[in-house]
Amino acid sequence: MLFCWMIDTPPKGCIDEGGASPSDGTTMDLDRHDFQLDQLMERIQANDNRLIALQIPEGLKMQALEMMDTIETETSAKVVLAADPCYGACDLVHDKMKLMGVELVAHMGHSQMNIESGMPTQFIDVTYDGDPDLTPVIPFLNAHKAIAQTRMANQGQVEGMSEEEAQERFLDAVGRMAPLTDTKLGLVGSIQHLHLLPDFHDRLEKAGYDVTIPIGGARLSFPGQVLGCNYSGDDDSIGHYLFLGSGDFHPIGLVLHTGKPLAMLDPYTGDAEEMSLERIERILRQRSGLIMASGDAQRFGILIGEKPGQMRRTLALRMKRMLEKHGKKGYLLALEHIGPDLIDFYPVDAFVNTACPRIAIDDAVRYNKPLITPFELEVALGEKKWETGYQFDEIP
Ligand code: SF4
Repeated sequence: MLFCWMIDTPPKGCIDEGGASPSDGTTMDLDRHDFQLDQLMERIQANDNRLIALQIPEGLKMQALEMMDTIETETSAKVVLAADPCYGACDLVHDKMKLMGVELVAHMGHSQMNIESGMPTQFIDVTYDGDPDLTPVIPFLNAHKAIAQTRMANQGQVEGMSEEEAQERFLDAVGRMAPLTDTKLGLVGSIQHLHLLPDFHDRLEKAGYDVTIPIGGARLSFPGQVLGCNYSGDDDSIGHYLFLGSGDFHPIGLVLHTGKPLAMLDPYTGDAEEMSLERIERILRQRSGLIMASGDAQRFGILIGEKPGQMRRTLALRMKRMLEKHGKKGYLLALEHIGPDLIDFYPVDAFVNTACPRIAIDDAVRYNKPLITPFELEVALGEKKWETGYQFDEIP
């Protein structure tokens, strides 16, 4: 899976929200990130904490020892680094740290989501002070606005499409789930660039766009925020998107979820590009192939994520019951980390993933057997139709 904090690294899991690595792979300028250590140390001193933990995404881990030195020098606390890969705010290590006697966890690069950590936690968003020029992205925005206007004018035709036609025209199959009511520009970003949104809103309005900063559900902490597994801010009035951030982890999910054109402006490099429709179409063709390959499967491994913000037990049980209804077998497999070495050897024909949704989307090629989402299983079993639109797997 594509990383958010290590954008150009090969798939290995999902790390959400941040993006401290420039998308061109150049070294990031850490001096321009705000790690908010002063506030953290004030809290440590005020509480007289003796043992604290840092949980840091991969792209920032090279800074960890320096931060640990600073905290141990400036306060009376000792610092433990939770050194396992950090997968976003869904991936809290609090139970383990509590057992170790840790009194406070500083969780960097992510914002709090709708799960209870069970102990004092400081979420630090690690903002970046880059302020890119709008000029390079304007041609993309103009082209995308025209696409949105055309889609809005023609959406009656798309609605009437048969399943076969929809599968031929994958993008329409995605986008037609929600007929547009307007063609506004949705302005979104990854966590460390969200502070730019109000100013960009005004600049884009001055440039002639009708701009909205979408507000999502409880899993999202801030207006305009997107996660790799949650795009709940999308609404029918948004015709196209501008994403402020680095890499294509969030853009892929947002376009898969909405079918709407998306331009990207990278605050690290100032570069602009668009999420290529060919790329999305390729992913959707792959998903269609995996659904077909799962149609004849008899034995399924149903993956349940053990990370607190990925655990979808009820969904996994529903998948098991649905398989039983169709005379098939589903085995519930609970894992903290999910990877080919950990599951490929089970004597099943395919896997259904209820953990981080991006594992099935971004990592599918790493597995020897089909790895599909719950929606895709429903399609494979004939419970749902592709013709009602491809449904991106979201965690609400
Ligand atoms: S479940 Fe969501 S927040 Fe967690 S790693 Fe996956 S995409 Fe990121």
